[in-house]
Amino acid sequence: MHIIAFLLYLGLSTILCMIASLPLFGTLIGILLFCPSVQAAGVESAFPNISFEMFSAFIQSTFSPNISLSSVLMLIFTLNENTDLLNLHARNQNRQFRYEQKRSSSTWMNALSHAIQKKTNEKKLKSLFTKDERPSDLTGSEATEILSIKLDSFANLLGLNPFKDGKFIQKIQKISNDAIQPILVLCPKSYVCMNGACQPHSLLMLTRLNQVPEAILIKGTKIFQNVSVLSAHCPTCKTAYFIDHETYGPSNKRK
Ligand SMILES: [Zn+2]
Repeated sequence: MHIIAFLLYLGLSTILCMIASLPLFGTLIGILLFCPSVQAAGVESAFPNISFEMFSAFIQSTFSPNISLSSVLMLIFTLNENTDLLNLHARNQNRQFRYEQKRSSSTWMNALSHAIQKKTNEKKLKSLFTKDERPSDLTGSEATEILSIKLDSFANLLGLNPFKDGKFIQKIQKISNDAIQPILVLCPKSYVCMNGACQPHSLLMLTRLNQVPEAILIKGTKIFQNVSVLSAHCPTCKTAYFIDHETYGPSNKRK
């Protein structure tokens, strides 16, 4: 046993020494290869694709009419980002062996409900229950159970269930957010004329709609391709406004 542990240690230290001797680029690749999230990054499930009509009907019948958009979005992203938990939960619900108990609720979903209860303020928590079913103690175990059932229905509505009619179909992978990426249009920061000798007039678009330049935008760790870039001008003093600079002076001196 000790020999195996020593060999493993020796193997790992050799690999780490090899990585350390590589130039910076090699080191980075070495670290990335050892990072499990990078290895798994290629496999993703599509973002839930249901009609807004179905979605809206579910929200209205499941939660209080006072539920806010932010609470609804929080619930969607909580489900989307906890696919490992949803896989475990669904497997608990779907008995595959005779000795397994069939469960309608599972400790996995209860743990998720409990986490939501802990992190949500009272007003928002209240809005997750309809008037008739709302328990007096919003942080108690009865509330946890009710919320669990709602989350289970919500996950099913979003198609986040690896089983169908008790049959295993496919494990839910990390959910891709590609379909909900915002479409960005870059504009000048100033929204009125900033020329001291002019008035704070509204700005008109300088870019022609049939000639909009595009750029690649790197925002934090995200890369946005084909981002439209617009510029503006003041119709009175002719100052031009671009995303990175402003050009003052008469238009005949500018190009
Ligand atoms: Zn102006």
